[in-house]
Amino acid sequence: MKHTTRALIIGRWQPFHNGHYEIIKKISQEVDELIIGIGSSQRSHSLKDPFTAGERMMMISKSLENLNIRYYTIPISDIDFNAIWVSCVEALTPPFNQVYTGNSLVRELFTEKGYVVKKPELYNRAEYSGTKIREKMLNNENWEHLVPKSVVDVINEIDGVGRIKRLNEKDY
Ligand code: ATP
Ligand code: MG
Repeated sequence: MKHTTRALIIGRWQPFHNGHYEIIKKISQEVDELIIGIGSSQRSHSLKDPFTAGERMMMISKSLENLNIRYYTIPISDIDFNAIWVSCVEALTPPFNQVYTGNSLVRELFTEKGYVVKKPELYNRAEYSGTKIREKMLNNENWEHLVPKSVVDVINEIDGVGRIKRLNEKDY
């Protein structure tokens, strides 16, 4: 019997954008199953992390509806304890044998535990960037073309742009 390849990718997905979609589409052609970790899952309602774990899970599951991959979205909260972080991830997720990350700390921690870590290629990073998309939302610039259509729907449903703008208001 063929061994199942099950990969892990962790991101904050604030929000889930077209670059995320493209890399997951690519990975889905390379592996049997994918675990999508929702990093900093406890964070929300801040300019860097505006959306809750549940909102991010909605963005992901609606966006991946037509992709032919079995995937699991797993919220992973920050523990601020790098030396045991991989064990915490393992305790929360299905078993996996490959890791995709562009983050050097994440690569180091998983490599030290013996995992095969691959670096995903970046698609149109000049525009497909969570930071840049959040800035555009704040500055009334067009951002809708940078995320899957279903992410536009989720952000509209929760008035995500209004939330980001209100969070940016000064205290009186
Ligand atoms: P932020 O600017 O908020 O950090 P981000 O765009 O970097 O947002 P993350 O949630 O930090 O998104 O990234 C999650 C994963 O998606 C990372 O592994 C990263 O390598 C990958 N990724 C991010 N942007 C792209 C892109 N444009 N193309 C392909 N992969 C991407
Ligand atoms: Mg990032």
